[in-house]
Amino acid sequence: MKKLTAIFLCAVLLLTSGCGGMTPATKHTRYQAEFLSLFDTVTTIVGYADSKEDFTELAGQIRDKLEEYHRLYSIYDDFAGVNNIKTINDNAGMAPVPVDSRIIDLLQYAKEQYAGTKGTLNIALGSVLKIWHDYREAGSDDPENAELPPMELLRQANEHTNIDDLVIDAAASTVYLKDPLMRLDVGAIAKGYATEQVAQHFENQGVTNLLLSVGGNVRALGGKFDEGADTVIPWAVGVRNPDLSSTESTLMSVLAEDCSIVSSGIYERYYTVDGVEYHHIIDPETLMPTTYYAQVTIVCKDSGLADALSTAAFVLPRDEALAYINAMDGVEACWVLEDGSQFYSDGFEALKK
Ligand code: ADP
Ligand code: MG
Repeated sequence: MKKLTAIFLCAVLLLTSGCGGMTPATKHTRYQAEFLSLFDTVTTIVGYADSKEDFTELAGQIRDKLEEYHRLYSIYDDFAGVNNIKTINDNAGMAPVPVDSRIIDLLQYAKEQYAGTKGTLNIALGSVLKIWHDYREAGSDDPENAELPPMELLRQANEHTNIDDLVIDAAASTVYLKDPLMRLDVGAIAKGYATEQVAQHFENQGVTNLLLSVGGNVRALGGKFDEGADTVIPWAVGVRNPDLSSTESTLMSVLAEDCSIVSSGIYERYYTVDGVEYHHIIDPETLMPTTYYAQVTIVCKDSGLADALSTAAFVLPRDEALAYINAMDGVEACWVLEDGSQFYSDGFEALKK
């Protein structure tokens, strides 16, 4: 696992600049906070408050909520007193594990998304994904000797990826993996699902005009304040350029108000074998990294759905992927190919700034 140092870095920045520091704080003063310890990635919060203290307080509350989900949904780490997804994996074939209702909710949602994405998104692929993960880590640490996993090994692991072996007992609040060799990997969905739950929690408390980004999984609560005015307008959220060699780090900006923008890309996690890059989204049919796209961006209200679809739309070929997204209400997508060309779902163009 790419381990980020477990430091709690909270930098609260006042974003409105004022010559000589004499700008009076209005209720539309904009602040930003960053944390470096959750979901193996960077969390950024942008919002407005009466004072820096108020904003720091709110940002801390959001961080704490996200951290609860981070602990519950981890497949890598144990936390004292917490039964998490790793605990479920460690007990595969042995015993049902009593878990928090937020785990039951995530796993039920993931099962629905398995059906909804025609099996392209399968959290029961853990045994296959672990092999790729281990070869990627070894290959990144020692690039000279980087190797692809043997297909035979992947095929054997793929015998243990049946989502029906994930037994959720909502009444008893337990989860059991019937197959002792099956493992869950919620990496494609947990970050977005957690972001959505936390966003809804704070929305219900009246928080608005806030932009939450958990490792590029962006969720807007309301819009932002138009500079120097009282009107609320959509946030402009930058979509990262998948071409890391380009001087332009942003590909485009997308307008977001009360909605999510989530990208999946081949640049997130990859390693190189014999000059070819192998990334981290695996086609359950071929058991190999998908080769169609460099990046997929999904825009829709729910961040959990956006995360699920960002992975599923990565695995489907162009015609199927387009038809799939166009058939869904309130979901738009942009695909970027390795040569930099792009294609969009029917309503995506209208969302661009
Ligand atoms: P990111 O982690 O960059 O946000 P994604 O949301 O696309 O990107 O999730 C990728 C992760 O999902 C991988 O690291 C792996 O753990 C998992 N994964 C890869 N392929 C699949 C798949 N077909 N079904 C379910 N999970 C997958
Ligand atoms: Mg995803």
